[in-house]
Amino acid sequence: RLYNEIQELKGNIRVYCRIRPFLPGQNKKQTTIEYMGENGELVVANPTKHGKDSHRLFKFNKVFGPTASQEEVFLDTQPLIRSVLDGFSVCIFAYGQTGSGKTYTMSGPSASSREDWGVNYRALNDLFQIAQSRGTTVVYEVAVQMVEIYNEQVRDLLSSGGPQKRLGIWNTAQPNGLAVPDASMHHVKSTSDVLELMSIGLTNRAVGATALNERSSRSHSVLTVHVRGTDLETDAVLRGSLHLVDLAGSERVDRSEARGDRLKEAQHINKSLSALGDVIFALAQKSSHVPYRNSKLTQVLQSSLGGQAKTLMFVQLNPDVDSYSETVSTLKFAERVS
Ligand code: ADP
Ligand code: MG
Repeated sequence: RLYNEIQELKGNIRVYCRIRPFLPGQNKKQTTIEYMGENGELVVANPTKHGKDSHRLFKFNKVFGPTASQEEVFLDTQPLIRSVLDGFSVCIFAYGQTGSGKTYTMSGPSASSREDWGVNYRALNDLFQIAQSRGTTVVYEVAVQMVEIYNEQVRDLLSSGGPQKRLGIWNTAQPNGLAVPDASMHHVKSTSDVLELMSIGLTNRAVGATALNERSSRSHSVLTVHVRGTDLETDAVLRGSLHLVDLAGSERVDRSEARGDRLKEAQHINKSLSALGDVIFALAQKSSHVPYRNSKLTQVLQSSLGGQAKTLMFVQLNPDVDSYSETVSTLKFAERVS
């Protein structure tokens, strides 16, 4: 009963926390993770400081510790993915500082091993499998788009050749309307089609960047999966969509040190992440005004935030003591929206 009430209050927003393990060579580091509960409780503390304010408690729908596998994480994501085949809009995104495991969760460390696959490959793979099993009653078509949002400009990551122009965003007041109609649309029939496309997307993301990691941490990437199901008996058509978002790093850039391009990037990231926070906060509060128009990110995601749409946020943490203040600010972002 109580559980139901909480679910109702929160609407269709779920928040999972995932803590990445220490990486090889980080063995001697101190952790800020004090406690992870079965029911989504998390206590963090700065092990180098003692005092009554040093422990902070947060509550999520679920907490995944450093040993959680990609498979375990996906099992709790799967129901959401499957609802796309029933006509829902779903948005899944990963929030956290650079190096906290956003890309690991959304894509995985590499696409070559199935075990490593993150949410996006597993989601598509699952959609294809279920679509196939329902094939005698419903025929599904799946198409994907992939864009990057960098400095409040939207670029197609899957366009074939030529300089990539900035894309406009359409008003997506209609459910499942296309937010970025000019981004190339690619029909996919199998997971290997998807793997191929994603590797093109990744390569394009690096264009113009000094280092792949650098650019990818300063931009948001949005993979959109469009599903159209036709009931063979009634001819009724059902549309669902899935947004899989690897957000730019949430770390604060020191204003006294950042200059020029770097400062501009930081301001754009800051603006779009707080716009996302404001939208989700407004939805969680069931506010009558949801400020979608404050950033390109929230405009692109609009159809999968609010209304009947379902949203899942992965809050990614780096357990290292040196990351403590970023960890707290990430958790505060999450706390506000959940
Ligand atoms: P981000 O995208 O947030 O910048 P990454 O996903 O690139 O962070 O993760 C940073 C590093 O940590 C990478 O080397 C990644 O492989 C590793 N890593 C992240 N999460 C995990 C995890 N759950 N298990 C093992 N390694 C991880
Ligand atoms: Mg990344």
